[in-house]
Amino acid sequence: MPRVTISRKGEDRARHGHPWIYRSDVEQPDAAAGDLVQVIGPRGRPIGHALFSDRSEITLRLIEYGSAPPPATFIKDRLAAAIEFRRALALDATAYRLVHGEADRLPSLIVDRYGDYLVVQALSQGIDRRVPEIVAALVELLQPAGILARNDPRVRLLEGLTQQVEVLHGSVPERIDVREGAVEYQVDPWRGQKTGLFLDQRENREAALRYARGRLLDAFSYNGGFALSLAPRCTSVLAVDISEDAVARIRENAARNRLANVEARAMNVFDELRELERTGARFETIVLDPPAFAKNKAAIRKALSGYKEINLRALKLLTPGGFLITCSCSYNVSEEMFVEVVSSAAADAGAEVSLVEKRAQGRDHPILINVPETYYLKCLILRKLA
Ligand code: SAH
Repeated sequence: MPRVTISRKGEDRARHGHPWIYRSDVEQPDAAAGDLVQVIGPRGRPIGHALFSDRSEITLRLIEYGSAPPPATFIKDRLAAAIEFRRALALDATAYRLVHGEADRLPSLIVDRYGDYLVVQALSQGIDRRVPEIVAALVELLQPAGILARNDPRVRLLEGLTQQVEVLHGSVPERIDVREGAVEYQVDPWRGQKTGLFLDQRENREAALRYARGRLLDAFSYNGGFALSLAPRCTSVLAVDISEDAVARIRENAARNRLANVEARAMNVFDELRELERTGARFETIVLDPPAFAKNKAAIRKALSGYKEINLRALKLLTPGGFLITCSCSYNVSEEMFVEVVSSAAADAGAEVSLVEKRAQGRDHPILINVPETYYLKCLILRKLA
């Protein structure tokens, strides 16, 4: 097995439980794309075993710490453990994340379940090379009707991998029926955003259900995740998304669930908030779930001003006693930064606001305590007092 020596800095990071070792901390790697390698510290200490990438800035992804290599069955063992954990969560849904990369000790592997089908993403060379083994293990463990590879995320290009969407097992239809709580969706696993649904928000939708009432504004609605689950508790629902496709899907899903109080508009949320303010509209419940505004560190300042603007406008549109469910899925914007920007929006809106719940992505997308990058989704539930 190839051996790769890392720097003192790399060793320190690994010993603090972070599984990523960057190119600048790796000395003269003698390994090929996707190899399983032994990782050695600068004084010869065995650090662990990792999957090697000859292209990514993340050169090594540790899969086992210490001197012993992972067992030959590690892929199947870890898939089984991930599946068992999701079973134990007893989620009230037929769509959820089965494997969440690092948090399931399978770095850069995503497996989402949509009813009888699985959607897989292999986001590094090491995992990409092992896809046949992963598929065989998933078939043995779960007997899915079909497995789709949604290998179109751009991060694959950073690994020198091609972008492609293909069936790996059985067959996968254009639309899959799934249920999340009381809501039935038709999901497009081939072309939908992410792998079809924003599964990481499922538990925040459940949480929001405890507060939603009156007139609801669901901004950045995609195919209506929050709008549809909260509609039965609200008098009227306005769902806004810039994508015509997403809005068509909201309408379809509203009809499928016989929710007659949902209106969907294809609009830029920034413009729509301004327009709603101009016309004197008011809401008792508002959801803000924008895309990641800060995709990298350089974009943080601009992202914060975007978060500030939408939160400020939403707090103005909210009636006293109303609830704002506000989210950020940029991992470059920390919880502390997000709370700070929302509090400054409250001050500028002249609103007194209490923090009712501080939440993250759902339990099927676990956070690794030593890997801050895995805490990406922040969700604050706020109440406007006055
Ligand atoms: N709330 C959704 C997920 C939202 S993802 C759920 O629970 O499933 C973010 C959405 O914002 C995407 O659907 C994208 O089309 C939309 N979007 C991005 N920029 C936008 C803008 N400026 N105005 C309106 N929608 C936007």
